[in-house]
Amino acid sequence: MRVVLFGGPGSGKGTQGDLVSERYGLPRISTGDLLREAVKTGTPLGRRAEVFIKAGELVSDEIVEEMIRERIEAEDCREGYILDGFPRTIPQAEALARMDATRPEIVIGIEVRSEILVGRLSGRLVCSACQTATNTSVRTPANDVVCNLCGGRLERRTDDAPEVIRQRIKVYQEQTEPLKAYYLRKCVYREVDGEGTIDETFRRITLILDAVLGRGEERRIQR
Ligand code: AMP
Repeated sequence: MRVVLFGGPGSGKGTQGDLVSERYGLPRISTGDLLREAVKTGTPLGRRAEVFIKAGELVSDEIVEEMIRERIEAEDCREGYILDGFPRTIPQAEALARMDATRPEIVIGIEVRSEILVGRLSGRLVCSACQTATNTSVRTPANDVVCNLCGGRLERRTDDAPEVIRQRIKVYQEQTEPLKAYYLRKCVYREVDGEGTIDETFRRITLILDAVLGRGEERRIQR
C-alpha cells in the first residue's frame, strides 16, 4: 500500500507521517528531508535545489521524481511506503503512477486553513539531529533550545521566514491543490480535519487507515 499524505506546508504531514510509520511499520519518505540532506552535504543535486527551496519555489519535477524512483526501489519499501511532500504537481503524480503502477494507494488530505498554516510555520522549530518538528507555542522559553526527544539543537528552517512562508502557501494553492481533484477522480482521496491536536488528527487518520491496512499491532505480530 502507498499512503500519500497531502496538505499545505505546516499541515502536519511530517508529524503525522512519523506516527503513521510507527503504527503500520511502513517507511516515511519526505522529499523535503531528502532535498535538505542533499543541500547540507553539498551534492550537485543539492546545489541545484537550494535556490528554489530558499525562495519557497518548487524544485523541478525531474529532480524529485528521480529521488523518489530510487528511494521506493529500496528493500524497506517492498510492503509499502508513506509519501510526505510528494507528489506536489500533476506531472509528479502521473510519474508516480507510472513508476509503481500496480500498488494500491490511498491519499489522505490534511485540511488546515491557510491563516493557521502561517501561524504554525512562524513558530516551528526543527531538531537539527532527528528532524522532529516542535512549535514555540507549545514550548516554554526554558526548553526552546534543545529537542525533547534527542537533545539535538533546535533550529528554524530557512524557508520558515515570513516572506518565504507566504510564497510557499501561494505555490501550494496554485500548483499542488489541483492534485486533490486528480485524486478525487481516481476515487482514492480521503480528507481529515487537521486543525485539532496532533492526537486528534492522528485518530482521524487511523480510522481511515485501520480499515485499509489493518491495525498496527496486528501487522507487527504477523511479522
Ligand atoms: P517540505 O519539507 O515538504 O515543506 O519541502 C521543502 C521544500 O523542498 C519545498 O518548499 C520545495 O522547495 C522542495 N520540495 C519538497 N518536495 C518537493 C516536490 N515534491 N516537488 C518540488 N519541490 C519539492
